[in-house]
Amino acid sequence: MSAEPRTVTLVTVDRGPVTIPEPAWCAGHSHHDPRTTYAEIIHSGPDIALTFRNATLLTASIVQSPHASRSEYRLGGRIEGASVFPLGETLDPMGLYDLAADLVSYAAGLRRLAVELNEIFLGGER
Ligand SMILES: [Zn+2]
Repeated sequence: MSAEPRTVTLVTVDRGPVTIPEPAWCAGHSHHDPRTTYAEIIHSGPDIALTFRNATLLTASIVQSPHASRSEYRLGGRIEGASVFPLGETLDPMGLYDLAADLVSYAAGLRRLAVELNEIFLGGER
């Protein structure tokens, strides 16, 4: 077992091949575009997806652009965040907790709606 830090070598348009530290959570760079600049390099973790039947409703994954000039939580920022689609935002941990709480509330609303719909069916209100 190696104690050496994990690295990845990527080709960039402005610096050629660069070797950078690879976070343990990064899912790799199989879709890396060599026209990417050094500052645009982005680490992305595996997606967590909410899929119902064949529709993907929501995805989230950890992202980080370690060489970017932005330091806030945003896609393309230096600080790790959770990129959420289709929200189109990169959230900090508290934002992600807020999203999870809203999803739990939404699930409760769906269950109430299912109960109401079932009562309509059973009551013959159709
Ligand atoms: Zn990476």
